[in-house]
Amino acid sequence: MSELQGKVALVTGATRGIGYAIADTLARDGATVVLTGRSAQETGDALAAKIAEAHGGTAVYRQCDVSDFSAVDQMVKAVIKELGGIDILVNNAGITRDKVLLAMSEQDWDQVLDTNLKSMFNTIHACYRNFMKKKAGKIINISSVSGLMGNSAQANYTAAKGGVIALTKTVARELASRGINCNAIAPGTIETEMTAKMDQGALDALLKTVPMGRMGKPEDIAECVAFLASDRAKYITGEVIRVDGGIGM
Ligand code: NAP
Repeated sequence: MSELQGKVALVTGATRGIGYAIADTLARDGATVVLTGRSAQETGDALAAKIAEAHGGTAVYRQCDVSDFSAVDQMVKAVIKELGGIDILVNNAGITRDKVLLAMSEQDWDQVLDTNLKSMFNTIHACYRNFMKKKAGKIINISSVSGLMGNSAQANYTAAKGGVIALTKTVARELASRGINCNAIAPGTIETEMTAKMDQGALDALLKTVPMGRMGKPEDIAECVAFLASDRAKYITGEVIRVDGGIGM
């Protein structure tokens, strides 16, 4: 497939899990990909090299903490200068600090909100003029079914993921007339390091609520991103697509 040939995609939190699968899939479809994360430069360089080798295109890694407004601004400006612009922005970086609300510290709240929600303000703010100038662009934000349904012991995470949905719709409204699409994906339970940390009992109970009876794979989310990033999805904006094995039916 080469429908993203000539496009530059920036994927936050691409050093593992869903973000890595997204970067790999967009590269498969022909995009030049910029992976970001906090991991060491050598670690990220090796991941980018693996993707470039597999698909024959260009893949680079930029170390950047997405919760840091200035760092994101500088990184985005440098990428735009180096690669001539950004066509696809995938806001994927995220963390959990799960506790019942009473046990949740201010730091647990702030870290999750800063990494999962403020991060998207940071990246979209940094890319805004670039998209306006191009009169084109795809912004894809990774939310969660927890952001739609709520979830015990995740007040910080669900508030951030619900905020991602509201942010998505607002950005979609602001930029629709410029030919820029902004959508969100709400994954269900996906096999990554994030869910590997979960208590097995809680995970088993959660899986009983999945009509398809199994966890999703990072690639299931990546294929939806690839669709939203393509021209096949050009009339879809402000939408939240659940990729959850039917949890939300
Ligand atoms: P993961 O395996 O834990 O990977 C998280 C990624 O985010 C890593 O690449 C990590 O990179 C990056 N990251 C974390 N904090 C960062 C920061 N401050 N700055 C830059 N990068 C940062 O998680 P995942 O399961 O793939 O989740 C990816 C996204 O999907 C998240 O937004 C998550 O909330 C969402 N999601 C996941 C599930 C699921 O079941 N797995 C379900 C619904 C939604 P570094 O360590 O290199 O910084």
